[in-house]
Amino acid sequence: MKCKARFEEHGGVLCVIAEDPKWPSPANFYVIPHGNRFAMIDVGCGGSDGAGYLKDALTHWGLRPADCSHVVLSHSHPDHMGAIGWLLKHARPRVFIHGSDVKGAMDPSHLNATFDIPFAIKTCVPHPGFEGFAGLDILDYFNGTGCSMDRTLKVEAVEDGDRLALGEFVFEVMHTPGHSPGHIALHDREKGLLLPGDMVGAIPAWYTPASGGLKGYLESLDKLAAANARRMLPAHGPVIEDPGRSIEWVRGKLLEREKQILEILSNENQSFVELNAALFHSPFIQFFPGCGILESHLIKLEEEGRISRKDGNERIVRS
Ligand SMILES: [Zn+2]
Ligand SMILES: [Zn+2]
Repeated sequence: MKCKARFEEHGGVLCVIAEDPKWPSPANFYVIPHGNRFAMIDVGCGGSDGAGYLKDALTHWGLRPADCSHVVLSHSHPDHMGAIGWLLKHARPRVFIHGSDVKGAMDPSHLNATFDIPFAIKTCVPHPGFEGFAGLDILDYFNGTGCSMDRTLKVEAVEDGDRLALGEFVFEVMHTPGHSPGHIALHDREKGLLLPGDMVGAIPAWYTPASGGLKGYLESLDKLAAANARRMLPAHGPVIEDPGRSIEWVRGKLLEREKQILEILSNENQSFVELNAALFHSPFIQFFPGCGILESHLIKLEEEGRISRKDGNERIVRS
């Protein structure tokens, strides 16, 4: 994992924007100086490269890790909080995360559950081509990509509606599940500034039933749209000056996939595994996040009475 950063400043927020917005590059992180200390929103990937990236970014702004007073984590994924272990060796910040992501932040093995890995194993592994994924542990996968996960030993849980004062900003916590059960966005209403985390950015985030599902994602987009922000600082991709348009772009991408599923099913009934292979090309992507994404769509379509399942997942039929 080698990634270059662009350093920008927007309305008093120091922005470290990863040049590559895609996994396993570090998520963007944001620094808010106050007096001779500073707060951070997300900290980037773990592993020696990730820690080096964070260290270089702080050096670029002339900041000492020891002066970090607060860290707010948008959610407990390695590209956002993997470098926390390195930071905690050098500083004693207060660390905040949503209550539903506390478990993942303190015991990263829990991410197997929120990534719906047991579901993918149960659904895919009995079929040819997926045998190699039988014992997959998502933490090993992270290590293999160079963006490893780390844990925090102490966190303070926040919830929807809480307010966090960081420097001259007062952020309202918005619980925005879909991509992670405790994903949060931060909104400074007075400044019209929204940090949407992974929910809106250069690429739509993945979603699984355990992370909040498609319904959760769509409801979170409604919440973000209702904030009517003037500027968004996303976790992946460049600064967004037209938040409403970007939110609708993500919504369009999610619904495009739903349309694609219904189109495939209008020609003939498919099994879950066949449908997954029609949507996603490589076996790994079918395993993760394909399985979880498809299941999220099927849950929504079933609830709306637009599809039904026969013989478990053997035959999915359009109503
Ligand atoms: Zn994430
Ligand atoms: Zn991310």
